[in-house]
Amino acid sequence: MRIDVLSIFPSYFDGLTLSLLGKAQSSGILDLQVRDLRDWTSDRHRTVDDTPYGGGAGMVMKPEPWGLALDEVSARSARPTIIFPSPAGEVFTQATARDLSSREHLVFGCGRYEGIDERVFDYASTLGEVRLISLGDYVLNGGEVATMAMIEAIGRLIPGVVGNPESLVEESHEDGLLEYPSYTKPSLWREHAVPDVLLSGNHAAIASWRREQQLERTRKRRPDLLAPDDDRS
Ligand code: SAM
Repeated sequence: MRIDVLSIFPSYFDGLTLSLLGKAQSSGILDLQVRDLRDWTSDRHRTVDDTPYGGGAGMVMKPEPWGLALDEVSARSARPTIIFPSPAGEVFTQATARDLSSREHLVFGCGRYEGIDERVFDYASTLGEVRLISLGDYVLNGGEVATMAMIEAIGRLIPGVVGNPESLVEESHEDGLLEYPSYTKPSLWREHAVPDVLLSGNHAAIASWRREQQLERTRKRRPDLLAPDDDRS
């Protein structure tokens, strides 16, 4: 998969050279290019923002650098998926991550200040499929942290990125439930014991206990994930 990121703070993304996504880049599974939006400005101050029409607080990102940057990075495939992180977008979920992990080319446009001139989204839709995606119902200072979170969630679903694909199947949100609790050695730690069933070697009993734990946790912590008529047991 190819991912292009446009940001005025490219060094935010240095962390993506570490761990599994770093390895995915070294092995060629993931081609991640982070570009400085200011490279597409032409004035001495490399200006990317201006005051809002109609007045109001804060600055708005100018359309010109965005247009040039999107023209260049979008041309790297026939029709990329262009994602603008935004608190006013659809909420990012595991299903969104899975959907996006099957795309050939993603472009992320990281907003700053009060956001990006609205015409940029209309223009981008002539170059590819545009998605405005929110990390959640709160406001961040910029799109970088949201983009990093999305790239990590999407990237680990690309075949070959996580060594054992089975570890992806049982995770929280994959089947609409939260994951069961996990334990490792020692079996007794500071007077806290691992549940007996996990030491029993009885695989059917372990599977059934884990399922119960998934349902109990989900009911307790995230009842919103279970429909009122959910009859999973
Ligand atoms: N004025 C905008 C609004 O009220 O919708 C908020 C702008 S925010 C300060 C600057 C940038 O941070 C946004 O353009 C977006 O890229 C990013 N951002 C902020 N909150 C976000 C969220 N919850 N999810 C994704 N991106 C977010």
